Amino acid sequence: MKILVVGSGGREHALVWKIKQSPKVEKIYCAPGNAGIGQIANCLEIDATDIQKLLNFAKTEGIDLTVVGPEASLVAGIVDVFEENGLRIFGPTQKGAELEGSKVFTKEFLKKYKIPSADFGVFDSREKAKQYIDEKGAPIVVKADGLAAGKGVIVAQTVEEAKNAVDVIMADKAFGEAGNKVVVEECLKGEEASFLAFTDGKTVLPLPTSQDHKAVYENDEGPNTGGMGAYSPAPVVTGEIAEFVMNKVMLPTIRGMKEEGRPYKGMLYAGLMIDGDKVNVLEFNCRFGDPEAQPLLMRVKSDIIDIFEAAIDGRLDKIDMKIDPRPTVCVVMASGGYPGSYEKGNVIRGLKNASAIKGVEVFHAGTAKQDDKVVSAGGRVLGITAVGTTLQEAINKAYEGVEAISWNNCYFRRDIGAKALKRTGG
Ligand code: ATP
Repeated sequence: MKILVVGSGGREHALVWKIKQSPKVEKIYCAPGNAGIGQIANCLEIDATDIQKLLNFAKTEGIDLTVVGPEASLVAGIVDVFEENGLRIFGPTQKGAELEGSKVFTKEFLKKYKIPSADFGVFDSREKAKQYIDEKGAPIVVKADGLAAGKGVIVAQTVEEAKNAVDVIMADKAFGEAGNKVVVEECLKGEEASFLAFTDGKTVLPLPTSQDHKAVYENDEGPNTGGMGAYSPAPVVTGEIAEFVMNKVMLPTIRGMKEEGRPYKGMLYAGLMIDGDKVNVLEFNCRFGDPEAQPLLMRVKSDIIDIFEAAIDGRLDKIDMKIDPRPTVCVVMASGGYPGSYEKGNVIRGLKNASAIKGVEVFHAGTAKQDDKVVSAGGRVLGITAVGTTLQEAINKAYEGVEAISWNNCYFRRDIGAKALKRTGG
């Protein structure tokens, strides 16, 4: 089979790495990919959201299956276009991807189908949003309706901060059209976790649980990033909570989307807030998480191509997905200064030494090839991912990999997995 993977991050490197293990696969292309992906697949100079060029390539090259990483391509309707042209593609249609593409749609959907989530109001007027903020008080959360690369959510500690967020989103249009409406939402307490599942529109096939680390600094301090590390499983999601999430979140969502005339296939990712035995949905994503994909795909033992194909063909109920019971951890190495401004073009050293450690995979994100060297080319640069017999061993190995790598002004959190260790004692 010839496979096309769309995207260029650590998630896509992990996808390509996993797809390459399938005996069914002869050739993998990735658009646009990165330096690490280029070592195991053919990278194309096509942007992940240039749907027309991707379509032309897939048709000319006779691509058998396309797998999409980033939300922007899904929300822009890549699946609809490929399907109209008779091509096989893993992911939800544009109407399905609204679960991530519109927070207003999602909040109203959650309410209609009685799926637990924070109380909220939706506003297209700044005055009304501010009036609601005055009524509810702080802390309170203000969210731009559309996609804003993870920056459109402001967790405000004061009424003033919340009102200011309304102005930034709706008057200054900091996120463009994404800010035509806002969701103002009750601020929830607890620990966040990620629940990812494959679905064919009927069956929900869950991956193991995982947890991201969104804040840039240790102890979850500082501004939010795309994710500084992840591990699987997440002990905060107990067996009972996982069952609750399947029955009260995932299955009702898939049934509800069907009822809405938006049958949903692909990957469904619920971002959860867990407080004791209380679970609320913070958000849905319509694709694999990054960095959660890295530790999760490392645990999948089954042929991933079989799973993608079964999701497309509505046969997921026949899949018995095999999971490695051992925990996995991914530590993200970023450019110093990220998520603010940062340097690019620094030569990365030690990649081979890190990859040589048993049980360690070095997934590239923002990297590029310059002559025969690999250089930093983004905020998040690498995801050092490791498996261990215990969580502590996986953490140690991941950091052993991290220590083997260096470049000018590189930054990483030293406490990835610490929260899980505290819960389980290792
Ligand atoms: P991303 O795409 O980066 O995952 P997003 O822009 O889709 O983010 P959300 O995931 O909805 O936005 O929110 C981002 C973060 O804001 C959450 O991970 C959580 O830390 C915080 N957050 C969102 N909603 C709430 C809430 N109701 N109460 C407390 N914190 C919240």
